Amino acid sequence: MKTIDHWINGAATTAGSIRTAPVYDPAVGHARAEVLLAEPSDVDTAVAAAAKAFEAWGDSSLSQRTKVMFAFRELLVKHEDELARIISAEHGKVIDDARGEIVRGREIVEYACGIADALKGGFSDQVSRDVDVHDFRQPLGVVAGITPFNFPIMVPLWMHPIAIAAGNTFVLKPSERVPSASRLVAELYAEAGLPDGVFNVVNGDKVAVDAILEHPGIDAVSFVGSTPIAKYVHERATATGKRVQALGGAKNHAVVLPDADLDYAANHLTAAAFGSAGQRCMAISIGVAVGSAGDGLIEILERKAAEIKVGPGHEAGNDMGPVVTEAARRRVIDSVALGAEQGATVVVDGRELRVNGHEDGFFVGPSLLDHVTTEMAAYRDEIFGPVLGIVRVSTLDEAIALINANPYGNGTAVFTGSGEAARRFQREVKVGMIGVNVPIPVPMSYYSFGGWKDSLIGDSPIHGPAGVRFYTRAKVVTTRWPHSTAGFHFPTSS
Ligand code: NAD
Repeated sequence: MKTIDHWINGAATTAGSIRTAPVYDPAVGHARAEVLLAEPSDVDTAVAAAAKAFEAWGDSSLSQRTKVMFAFRELLVKHEDELARIISAEHGKVIDDARGEIVRGREIVEYACGIADALKGGFSDQVSRDVDVHDFRQPLGVVAGITPFNFPIMVPLWMHPIAIAAGNTFVLKPSERVPSASRLVAELYAEAGLPDGVFNVVNGDKVAVDAILEHPGIDAVSFVGSTPIAKYVHERATATGKRVQALGGAKNHAVVLPDADLDYAANHLTAAAFGSAGQRCMAISIGVAVGSAGDGLIEILERKAAEIKVGPGHEAGNDMGPVVTEAARRRVIDSVALGAEQGATVVVDGRELRVNGHEDGFFVGPSLLDHVTTEMAAYRDEIFGPVLGIVRVSTLDEAIALINANPYGNGTAVFTGSGEAARRFQREVKVGMIGVNVPIPVPMSYYSFGGWKDSLIGDSPIHGPAGVRFYTRAKVVTTRWPHSTAGFHFPTSS
């Protein structure tokens, strides 16, 4: 069986690792490879390589850094098919969906190609007589990324292109369930001309994460994953004096008002709830049907859910692949059962779905639950699977209050024909990313991505301008070239 190793200091290595974990193909339900699990000493080796590389990379010119980014971007285009196949094989998502995340991730590289503009500072002429002030930003040093399974390439790409273009060196600990895409990315960076040690991949589990959080040689940690681990990472890494970005889980609501185009809303809700088998941090898991929208919406959603073709991600024509593990499949099945037990109406039941020839695969069909209420586990828990719950409310105010009372605040959407309702919704809702007739409002690379409340711990969103700020620190320089003798008075602006 293939063993997926680490990438440290510009080369593949097993370092000192002896532990391994299986990497499954969720469509067949068997391990396709094993991945090495790093020991703390392996993290030390990677950080030492990154620290050494920082001496030159941190001082390299903007032209050198952007040249590498442009070349890396071209290689991501060239290897799109291969990357999509790798992602689909380890995660289970359909190939088109895998391509989608490659494209969205590549957009961050394109943003990083323009790092020279993003790093421009300000200049104030003559703030006092003969005195000017300017500021500029410098890289932090060695920074680390810890990423989830559900976007094997896009989420790491939210981090390392900006960090590296800003002059940092990087140690990535990808999800141990989907390690291969980032291993290939490491080789592409090397081909693009990135010097050894600037980008390192250390595969591993909690042992590697804890070693990163405690490591005195790491200046900042970017984390994306579930809320309990985001809180843990934030607490431990800030306690050791690091900067931390920590993005957590979600329970995203889409509100459908009676004046919405119901066909349009149901179409988009179906894709946003069941695409990638519901394993997206911006997936819609709760539809909020307002007033008379409810019955019509359920009728169309039921029809649409039944049309979804479930099967292996690499087979053309499938809309939805398996979930990532048997444990995830079991969680989905149990959630639907508990929903029914607690009083929800199971309109579409995906629990019994079997895919011919793939009986051991981690497949589960789309499920649609109606009359979900806020006390139910199906409402409260992040199921992270293909389950869409519908809550019925009477007014837009009630819908907004419901969303604002939810502990998560990652994404939300409103479907309406009313500009006034949409404006009120976006101003009053306590959520970081909002769609108006757009169900998955993932911001473009030149904005920043981040939720509110339990969906983002601390205060730093990711990529875009916030990413540049996170991976750099500013200096403000006050300059005078004197042509007279200095006095002893406190500096004033006259
Ligand atoms: P996870 O929290 O289980 O794992 C994320 C990372 O943390 C992995 O690299 C993993 O190895 C590590 N990890 C897991 N358990 C740990 C522990 N006990 N101690 C230290 N490290 C640990 O998340 P996941 O299941 O891989 O991904 C799905 C979750 O990520 C969902 O909750 C989803 O909403 C969230 N997510 C959020 C965003 C966002 O932008 N807010 C984006 C993608 C995914």
